Amino acid sequence: MDKEEVTPMGRVTIRSAVVEQITRHANADLPYECCGLLLGTSSHIDRAVPARNAAASRTRFLIDPGDHFAAIREARSSAQEVVGVYHSHPSSPAVPSATDVAEANDARLIHLIVSLAPEPQPVIRAFRFTGGNFQPLELVSVG
Ligand SMILES: [Zn+2]
Repeated sequence: MDKEEVTPMGRVTIRSAVVEQITRHANADLPYECCGLLLGTSSHIDRAVPARNAAASRTRFLIDPGDHFAAIREARSSAQEVVGVYHSHPSSPAVPSATDVAEANDARLIHLIVSLAPEPQPVIRAFRFTGGNFQPLELVSVG
């Protein structure tokens, strides 16, 4: 993690264990979208904190507010920050949906989408919401 101090804009690293955790969560919450918070820095995702999808929907997510606050508290207690959100697309590609675009508002957050549609391998992509649209980020899995 220390060797990633200097990171080009648009590149985000993520611990491989976090990728596995998010993929497990996405499968466990089928047929609905899963969601959660990402902890770390603006260029490194160190942890994922699962949240309930208050929308309980196959096509959208709404992070349970209580779970959101719990994640913020957990981040503070470990001197980290909530730097992003993740959610799953059970049956569509790992690209932001029209609903995702309509409901996004925080340009500081990394948005991670895991798609379970292209079996058998899940696909995870990262985006940042800037200028009213999602811009893809390079996502690199590390240790
Ligand atoms: Zn979505």
